[in-house]
Amino acid sequence: MLSFVYTPLPTRVVFGRGKRSQAAVEAARLGITRPLVITTPHQAGQGADLARDINGIVYAHAAMHTPTDVTEAALRFAEGEQIDGLVALGGGSSTGLGKALALRTDLPQLVIPTSYAGSEMTNILGETSGGLKTTRRDAKIQPETVIYDADLLATLPDPFAATSGLNAIAHAVEGLYAADGNPIISLMAEEGIRALANALPLGAGGREQALYGAWLCGAVLGSVSMALHHKLCHVLGGTFNLPHAETHAVILPFATAYNAAVAPAAMAAICRALNCSHAAQGLQTLARTIGAPLALRDIGMPQDGLDRAADIAAASPYPNPAPLQRSAIRELLENAYFGHILPSPNQGEM
Ligand code: NAD
Repeated sequence: MLSFVYTPLPTRVVFGRGKRSQAAVEAARLGITRPLVITTPHQAGQGADLARDINGIVYAHAAMHTPTDVTEAALRFAEGEQIDGLVALGGGSSTGLGKALALRTDLPQLVIPTSYAGSEMTNILGETSGGLKTTRRDAKIQPETVIYDADLLATLPDPFAATSGLNAIAHAVEGLYAADGNPIISLMAEEGIRALANALPLGAGGREQALYGAWLCGAVLGSVSMALHHKLCHVLGGTFNLPHAETHAVILPFATAYNAAVAPAAMAAICRALNCSHAAQGLQTLARTIGAPLALRDIGMPQDGLDRAADIAAASPYPNPAPLQRSAIRELLENAYFGHILPSPNQGEM
């Protein structure tokens, strides 16, 4: 029986190479005359150029996992500046700070993403305070407009392009077996995986296709709920401060294997998109092909933290296709820690 709920995202999307030049027009469309341009220290120069073009002022202190003290400092910085909008330029960290400010001020947001993270398409904000990361959804968090310009990704180092692309694919994988999934989201998810998987090994040549895939995957993340994979990455990032995109890259094949037996339609879609016969193995092969890390021990995870990570991930219930058992999650983490080759003996071919 076909039965579902589908709510389209309200974000306006402007896609195309060179579309960064539309920033002033798109800001004006939102009634923004004096934006705060948000970016990271690394992209401060790009932020300053953009601010010059759109009559903005730059705040170049965005940081990963959106620490609330940075948000408070940005609010103090903007005080008395007559800011009437927010323009985030960068990866998920810049977008995250823009969202945190939008939540507190309800100012309109224009986002110009420069990675494949996908945050720009969601009403989700993860913030870190006192070493704890908490996530919420709110309509004020959803950006009003996004400009996708593949030319801005030319400076993305290849290793980060690889892990960021796998971060995007992870949204689509979990969207395919989401408890609140629907046929449109499944189409977007499969196409998003296909576009990214075909484009990432191509380097510069694939940037436009990869960004198209990342948009689709971000829209999936914004539309349906995520499961074990995102929960694990959230725990590993928030509690062990592991790098966001790399953590997604390592965990994805193992989380997929965890759910494989009970989500056959999702596995079949992943296999069609990757042109492979075993979804988890196909994802691990893709990661290896594009030079992404394959083991948690290689990205800073302490081995004596695996028990704690399993405890936290198993503590609060959330929808996941396969039952969430602490012992099975611990085994998943062990496999991911060492980067064991998939499929493991008890996971047959599709
Ligand atoms: P990031 O934004 O922290 O970027 C990493 C580094 O790469 C930064 O120094 C950044 O300035 C630089 N960078 C980004 N694009 C570049 C480019 N084109 N050229 C050169 N350097 C570039 O990393 P990320 O993986 O994009 O984002 C991770 C953050 O986003 C995490 O905090 C994560 O929680 C959040 N996130 C949130 C959502 C959501 O829906 N709320 C979704 C995905 C990610």
